[in-house]
Amino acid sequence: MTASGQPANIVVVGAGIIGLTTAHALAEAGHAVVLQSAAFTPHTTSDVAAAIWFPFAAEPRDRVLAWSRSTYAAFEVAHQQNVPGVSFCEMKDLYDKQVEEPWWASAVPAWRRCNADELPADYKDGFGAQVPLVESSRYLEYLHGQLGKLGVVQRPGFVHRLADLEADVVVNCTGLGARSLCGDERVTPIRGVVVRTEVAPFNYSLADDEGPNALAYIVPRSDDCVLGGYAHYGSGVLEVQEHEADDIIRRCARLHPAVADLAVKEVVVGLRPGRSSVRVEADPADDRVVHNYGHGGSGFTVCWGCAAEVVDLVAGRIQ
Ligand SMILES: Cc1cc2nc3c(=O)[nH]c(=O)nc-3n(C[C@H](O)[C@H](O)[C@H](O)COP(=O)(O)OP(=O)(O)OC[C@H]3O[C@@H](n4cnc5c(N)ncnc54)[C@H](O)[C@@H]3O)c2cc1C
Repeated sequence: MTASGQPANIVVVGAGIIGLTTAHALAEAGHAVVLQSAAFTPHTTSDVAAAIWFPFAAEPRDRVLAWSRSTYAAFEVAHQQNVPGVSFCEMKDLYDKQVEEPWWASAVPAWRRCNADELPADYKDGFGAQVPLVESSRYLEYLHGQLGKLGVVQRPGFVHRLADLEADVVVNCTGLGARSLCGDERVTPIRGVVVRTEVAPFNYSLADDEGPNALAYIVPRSDDCVLGGYAHYGSGVLEVQEHEADDIIRRCARLHPAVADLAVKEVVVGLRPGRSSVRVEADPADDRVVHNYGHGGSGFTVCWGCAAEVVDLVAGRIQ
């Protein structure tokens, strides 16, 4: 609401997980929201993600952990309400050396050290935690429906200049697109590849982020299993290279041998919107603009926490 008690007119640009959750939070706060985007689900980077709750390739850690904690809580509520695409699964984070405590420990309600008999060969330590599993496209589609119910107008369209948009406040949720839209050279792609297979015969997730098979992760979902991947910093190559699917399957099979036998459905590239630090801030040069982009490999892990912060920043802009 504006100081005069009227709802503010807000345009949210971008319809990935960040734009959708931001538009949702702003509409729930009572604002009149238009969501404008060049692409919608299933044609966004967010659709490529598995997506499991895990803070990865996003900085700074203190802010990321706070956003991750509140996003975890939001997905707990969503799971209790049977929101489509939202469930919880056990995630096992594997290390090839002894580790004191997982760096993300403070963001989850509970975690445990894996037993020795749970660790694949090559691994000496591991941590298990129940975490949100968000089947990306199903959840994005659900959010679109919720935005409709909240009265958010959703319109297609590429934005060349944020200044051209008529609104009290513009919220920039363009992910990698922010590099050209704002001339922000700190935004760079972190290329990933995922192999989608038939359903896995087990229901927990495994990940090696920094060990001998990194980056390797297995995310079993209700109607497929996602095997990943890579984190090619600075690469914007959208084609799948010939050896990549075999390489991913080989490395993931070292986490769980059963994945080597799963039939492959699809191999997909996604460009994570990397940035030296996630940008959630009011624009210092334009008092109509608030930014929310650069979430790297953690968009689903931090989305609701970032959206809540944007609601506060917008309130500061319209007083
Ligand atoms: C392979 C892979 C696996 C991943 N796994 C996970 C995971 O397990 N867990 C997790 O938390 N995260 C994961 N991620 C990261 C996550 O997908 C991203 O952090 C997230 O998708 C970023 O969301 P976003 O909404 O900012 O960007 P996007 O989904 O890219 O959305 C950006 C939107 O902005 C629009 N746009 C851009 N420029 C303009 C413009 N000028 N005008 C109008 N519209 C514009 C686009 O059309 C799009 O709709 C993964 C990513 C990849 C690639």
